[in-house]
Amino acid sequence: MMSEKKTTEAVKTNVSTKDLRLGIYVQVPFCQTKCTYCNFHTGVVAAGRFAPYVNAVCREVRRYRELYRASGVALPPGFENGVVDTVYFGGGTPSLLEAELLGQMTGTIRETFANELTEVTLEADPETVNATKAVAWVAAGINRVSFGVQSFSDRELVAVGRMHRREDIYRAVPILREAGIRNISFDLIAGLPYQTKESWRESLEELGKLAPEHVSIYLLEVDEGSRLGLEILQRGTRYSAGTVPSDDLMADFYDTACAFLADLGYHHYEISNWGKPGFESRHNLKYWRREAYLGFGAGAHSFSGGHRWANAHDAGSYVEAITAGKLPAEQVEPVTREGALNEELFLGLRQLDGIDVGRIEREYGVGLGTKFEGLQAAGLVERSGDVVRLAPARLSVSNEVFVELMR
Ligand code: SF4
Repeated sequence: MMSEKKTTEAVKTNVSTKDLRLGIYVQVPFCQTKCTYCNFHTGVVAAGRFAPYVNAVCREVRRYRELYRASGVALPPGFENGVVDTVYFGGGTPSLLEAELLGQMTGTIRETFANELTEVTLEADPETVNATKAVAWVAAGINRVSFGVQSFSDRELVAVGRMHRREDIYRAVPILREAGIRNISFDLIAGLPYQTKESWRESLEELGKLAPEHVSIYLLEVDEGSRLGLEILQRGTRYSAGTVPSDDLMADFYDTACAFLADLGYHHYEISNWGKPGFESRHNLKYWRREAYLGFGAGAHSFSGGHRWANAHDAGSYVEAITAGKLPAEQVEPVTREGALNEELFLGLRQLDGIDVGRIEREYGVGLGTKFEGLQAAGLVERSGDVVRLAPARLSVSNEVFVELMR
């Protein structure tokens, strides 16, 4: 148990609405094909469905106050005076959309919210980039591109059904630079079929040569939500499941990446994220810091401070509902004090600066007492005064910390 005090009553909000800086997430759930490891709710649809979807997103943005009210989502007083400073187009593959459609969404966000847009991110797959699009993206206000690189090995990319090849990455980066994008992030996945120590090292070295400002590294997720994950769980061989590296090897890849990126001057600020100084993702930091964000589009999640909610995943039903003037919101949940406290620990500890236990104890009126002693004795966390953080040398096994905290 977290504390002797009762912590299950609803909290009004943990987000200060004074000087509120809001993030906006827009979900674009369309892809050209389905990667074997993907467990997201995305679909492969005809391009003719893009414009109606974007129209629905713009309608949701323009009418968000009344849609929320009708769905029982209460925004904290003062929330509507918040200034939007980050926008994130995620997916799916939002770079598949015609640039005009992205411009339509950024324009609608600007018209609807007070804004000072400092970071507008577009998730892009390398093969979707061309010079005309890149120039139009910049004109639409996009100033950061998050690339789904995943690997520099064509064998690994082919095995998981990615549409791009290594050459596409080398082709796309100069196009973006030429168009004026000064903030590029690369995603890599550790644990792909056929990945070896050598090929992982090569992917890191090629990444280093292209010098993105930001890097995200994810470990392959093995669950029933993806075709590859299911095959691995069932000990099958389809999708090259038999060539997926062991957990120990994946942990080794992660440790190699930590050392490699540190040598290149990247700041490791969250378990899966590194940035050159000043290029940490402002938008994603809002998630881990429990700051407010609104999500628009099918399956998008939102957090107002007092509530969390998510739209239904199915893109067709989403468009229908919004067109009929209804928010397809599911799981509208008030954040309880106990829930908020757990989020402080779970989200806070993901950040390598750690958490201020003293502040949390004061704010929530709880005693965390001996909660971290066992983890500290096991060398999984470090404590310095009130600050507890994950032990830098044991990050690859940080899951053990979160499992222990849930007990
Ligand atoms: S491109 Fe991304 S979202 Fe689309 S199927 Fe592949 S992994 Fe999933």
